[in-house]
Amino acid sequence: MRMVDPYEGSHPEDLLSPYALDTLSEGGSLGIEAHLELCRSCSEEIASLRETAARLIASVAAQVPPPDLRSRLIASVGSRV
Ligand SMILES: [Zn+2]
Repeated sequence: MRMVDPYEGSHPEDLLSPYALDTLSEGGSLGIEAHLELCRSCSEEIASLRETAARLIASVAAQVPPPDLRSRLIASVGSRV
């Protein structure tokens, strides 16, 4: 016997990414939240999307020096020349 999935074929798959990244409109988010309360597979998908996004943001943030670092470097190089 297979488990019955009441949402089979109607998961809001294309809205999961924007929801995980907080780029959905408020109305869209409410619809997703209602679905997530009942749908475990989409909740897990959101959790993993958020984890991936957090990792991406962390790696991008690590590569971009804070704006004051550049001017401090320029100042310290300039003072030695
Ligand atoms: Zn779902």
